[in-house]
Amino acid sequence: MLKTVVVVGIPGVGKSTVLSIAVKILVEKGYTVKLVNFGDYMLSYLKKLGETDARDQIRRLRLATQLVAQEAAAKAIRRDLEALSGDRSVGIVDTHAVIRTSLGYWPGLPLAVLGELRPSVIVVIEASPEEVLERQRRDVSRYRKDLMSIEFVEELLQINRYYAIASSVISGAALRFIRNSEGLAERAAEELVKVVEEI
Ligand code: ATP
Ligand code: AMP
Ligand code: MG
Repeated sequence: MLKTVVVVGIPGVGKSTVLSIAVKILVEKGYTVKLVNFGDYMLSYLKKLGETDARDQIRRLRLATQLVAQEAAAKAIRRDLEALSGDRSVGIVDTHAVIRTSLGYWPGLPLAVLGELRPSVIVVIEASPEEVLERQRRDVSRYRKDLMSIEFVEELLQINRYYAIASSVISGAALRFIRNSEGLAERAAEELVKVVEEI
């Protein structure tokens, strides 16, 4: 049976960094891994609609537009994950439990999305507010200025946990917290690999 892991965490916490290391380790161990970034799928859909071509603009679009893109992304990811099969195959989705939109907090993993992704486990990547803020500042490849204050980051870390718990309850997926400490992304990746091995 296909193993699916959904990985969440606030912007700049290090999800994509940890996942790229975890994928290398899993491949070395003989796994077939499909790593998908939910935002990539939303962006390609929104580009076709002519809505935006910038990933950090997505959360500032009208919520109705984000909603159709979210649904389209979840369905497209499901189709891509269907291509995988067998015990040594794992689908990993790099995404968000909650998005801070202009209107308010909005779920990244509502029932409709979870129904498509069908995760066995939801992994929450975490770090201290100071670490996240510093990573956001250092990473000039991304626009996260709308989130870059210690108050926002502290609040978002907390809200993210509540949303992840809600998604675990409505989907029946296990919930795991992994700390991505400064300079120790490899350690977080190794912990994630153990989670995959335990499914
Ligand atoms: P987003 O949700 O916005 O895509 P993300 O969670 O995927 O964010 P990354 O892009 O992986 O975050 O990481 C943000 C920045 O933090 C990058 O510059 C990355 O190199 C750095 N980083 C990630 N993990 C660590 C770590 N353990 N120690 C130091 N820097 C890190
Ligand atoms: P990322 O590269 O992970 O930051 O993803 C880019 C953007 O895609 C995020 O900032 C969100 O606006 C959007 N996004 C990612 N995952 C989801 C999701 N599950 N639901 C809604 N929007 C999402
Ligand atoms: Mg990322």
